Amino acid sequence: MVESLSLFYNGRPQPPAAGTETLTLEDPAGGEAYAEVPLCGEADVAAAVESAAAAFPAWRETPVVERARVLFRYRQMLEAEGAELARLISHDHGKTLADAQGEVQRGIEVVEFACGMPTLIQGNTVEDVARGIDCRTVRQPLGVCAGITPFNFPVMVPMWMFPVAVAAGNTFVLKPSERVPRAGLRLAELFREAGLPDGVFNVVHGDGRAVNGLIDHPAVRAVSFVGSEPVARHVYRRAGEHGKRVQALSGAKNHLVVMPDCTWDKTVEGIMGAAYGSAGERCMAVSVVVGVGAAADELIERLSAAAGRLKVGRGTDPASEMGPLVTREHKARVVGHIEKGVAENAALVLDGREHPLAGGNGNFVGPTLFDGVRPEMSIYRAEIFGPVLSVVRADTLDDAIALINDNPYGNGTALFTNSGGAARKFEHEVSVGMVGINVPVPVPLAFFSFTGWKSSFFGDLHVHGRDGVNFYTETKTVTARWFTAGDAQGGANMTITLR
Ligand code: NAD
Repeated sequence: MVESLSLFYNGRPQPPAAGTETLTLEDPAGGEAYAEVPLCGEADVAAAVESAAAAFPAWRETPVVERARVLFRYRQMLEAEGAELARLISHDHGKTLADAQGEVQRGIEVVEFACGMPTLIQGNTVEDVARGIDCRTVRQPLGVCAGITPFNFPVMVPMWMFPVAVAAGNTFVLKPSERVPRAGLRLAELFREAGLPDGVFNVVHGDGRAVNGLIDHPAVRAVSFVGSEPVARHVYRRAGEHGKRVQALSGAKNHLVVMPDCTWDKTVEGIMGAAYGSAGERCMAVSVVVGVGAAADELIERLSAAAGRLKVGRGTDPASEMGPLVTREHKARVVGHIEKGVAENAALVLDGREHPLAGGNGNFVGPTLFDGVRPEMSIYRAEIFGPVLSVVRADTLDDAIALINDNPYGNGTALFTNSGGAARKFEHEVSVGMVGINVPVPVPLAFFSFTGWKSSFFGDLHVHGRDGVNFYTETKTVTARWFTAGDAQGGANMTITLR
């Protein structure tokens, strides 16, 4: 049966406005239609924002310990529903069940972090900044915050945002990816069941039109975005023009450097997961491996053998190690990149187009490996977002670092080595915001922030961790004096000195 998706505001599912266009969603592994998602216009966006705006005054006045208690209950419900959520993600996105379970776990960790809001939201106090005068800061919520999220982490990425925003006293409107929208709706239903008051968390569906409607709505105070670079730039610029607070996480091209002294088995295992996990549809996926000196030849031999053994299949099949791509259109894009790589004379060591499943109804492309890739080639420059790994050869670690530092993106990178000196040099000199040493996908836990650099991030404050709390609150600084009967007469203070 093809399900017609609702929006979620005022604490319950809501139909879209009459005549709203819809997009048909198809099972990425088999091609069958399973849902129609409305592509909302201004009226639906306004209704969701108004629901959030109406809920804000009471939620802001709810003591932070009470807000945190709702988050504690939400955490329990997410744990209980985790397997079901993972199945939904795996079906709709295509990633494997194990990977989807990991995604849910990463989302729950942000809720756990947000449960600490009574401590996280504390301000500072200095007594006697002048005689009898104290100064303190408080952090207050902003109001209605909006989150716009990509298809590749339909649970984790929204949860980088709204648990922190809501625990801090804001209300929230989520616009999940129109390509994988059902998990966002389920998150809203569960939050409501955990006791969240109506209107505090809302979901609206759609494409660029809904996004622009959210950014432009005068009641929206802050915009969190995660997605591709052109859209991140657009959202950053447009929200900035309205004077709104904005954080826009963008595309990536992540390099993993292999030194000849690495522990080979662990290095190859790490690369398999980082390059081909989630079919390469991760912003922290490794899409370039840099083989330094003598490491390169051994690398190609080991990688092609290991990648050729990966079990590709439907994400919901527990035996699968890699699932299909999200849509037919995305598969065509990825195949187009492989064709360009061949045309540019990169050496195609393993061709995912030849995989037995690639000719069927699902959006499958097998693991693909290119050797001899050079920085001017389009497969090196483009964020392919598929199971396509490029190997670049570098003479020295200095050359590898220079290559990475020349790249416009700066999300994640990793070095595999047994040399402390090489590791120290790499982490110190590389211009990338998240660095792994013998850790292939260095995604920080929720109590740190997700610190992409360069064209991988536009804004000042990152998601979750201390930055996340600061993003969703503003600082008020109070300077206070209380008079007592015995105060000496001083006359008017005609200066700006506190006395
Ligand atoms: P996308 O940019 O196509 O879509 C992201 C969101 O933007 C969606 O909600 C979509 O509806 C909306 N959107 C699309 N076109 C728009 C337009 N013209 N105007 C306004 N809004 C628009 O991204 P995607 O394909 O869903 O996700 C993959 C991308 O996300 C990759 O580039 C990946 O690197 C990036 N990503 C980055 C991070 C990170 O942490 N930096 C994390 C996850 C994904």
